[in-house]
Amino acid sequence: MKLSIVVPCYEEEKVIEQFYKVITETLEQEKFEYNLVLVNDGSKDNTLSILKALAQKDERVKYITFSRNFGKESAMLAGLSFSDGDVIIIMDADLQHPPSLIPKLVEGYHEGYDQVIAQRTRTGDSFGRTVLSRLYYKMINKLVDVKLVNGQGDFRLLSRRAVNALLDLNEYNRFSKGLFSWIGFKEKVIKYENVLRDAGESKWTFSKLLSYGIDGVISFNNKPLRISIYLGIITTVFAILYVFVSLVQNLIYGIDVPGYFTTIASILVLGGIQLLFLGVIGEYIGRIYYEIKRRPHYIIEEENVRKGEEVKEHVYTSRGY
Ligand code: UDP
Ligand code: MG
Repeated sequence: MKLSIVVPCYEEEKVIEQFYKVITETLEQEKFEYNLVLVNDGSKDNTLSILKALAQKDERVKYITFSRNFGKESAMLAGLSFSDGDVIIIMDADLQHPPSLIPKLVEGYHEGYDQVIAQRTRTGDSFGRTVLSRLYYKMINKLVDVKLVNGQGDFRLLSRRAVNALLDLNEYNRFSKGLFSWIGFKEKVIKYENVLRDAGESKWTFSKLLSYGIDGVISFNNKPLRISIYLGIITTVFAILYVFVSLVQNLIYGIDVPGYFTTIASILVLGGIQLLFLGVIGEYIGRIYYEIKRRPHYIIEEENVRKGEEVKEHVYTSRGY
């Protein structure tokens, strides 16, 4: 069994060497046959030169570097499509995903699971982020068709066939948490205590998290559009009732001119609802627009995985050459 470890790296100069040290120690202890697929996601710091130095002294280190920052999703995708292991583990570079769990993950694979998921607790996260994420998962699981679990992220082991299934999904807007759940297969969950970042900073800002959250809702269903239909039906029924009641009133009591409040109220409420759902429709159309362009997920500037082979085509398809 060959193991590939896929690691997206974005501006990780402060921790990447430490990561390399810890991971090779763990893997050598377990006597695994393995390679590391490190994807440099357009870092502006020294990450790339460190990766190159590591690759020079250890031939099990493979690196891929992008022409600019394409985001973690793209980096993971590149790592998956370039890795050749029978078993693949995706991990962060910042040591928040403890390498000591790897033997347990592999054990799960030998028990016959295609996905072995490491689920973290939220200890050490800020109170606000914990509460918000709990609320978010409650809401999103009502909305989307796949099941998302709080604390289950990208740290997981995937069998070769699970990876191939993921690579066959070639949508432009990738929401990995949803995709992992969508492909199915037998899953095993291993829980671990949350670890804080070793060095460097998290790249998540509040606005990035919010936009990621919206991606999650929109990527996996069309329920927001359904909701707009229901709301439309409800408001139409109320509008008809209201028109009918005022018509009867007018017939009985004569025309009642002062209607300022009801007019303004209905304009504001309806206007608000219309703008909201125009936004929802716009989100879907925007996604269709990006999907239809069929742009590559990433552009590779350099790599030492398949040197000498035709790389160009790879940019356009995520799976194979
Ligand atoms: N990352 C990446 N591209 C980006 C942002 C992050 O490849 O645009 C990588 C980063 O190097 C790390 C992983 O994704 O290995 C998780 O990032 P981070 O630690 O900032 O996120 P958090 O752990 O706070 O969720
Ligand atoms: Mg992190």
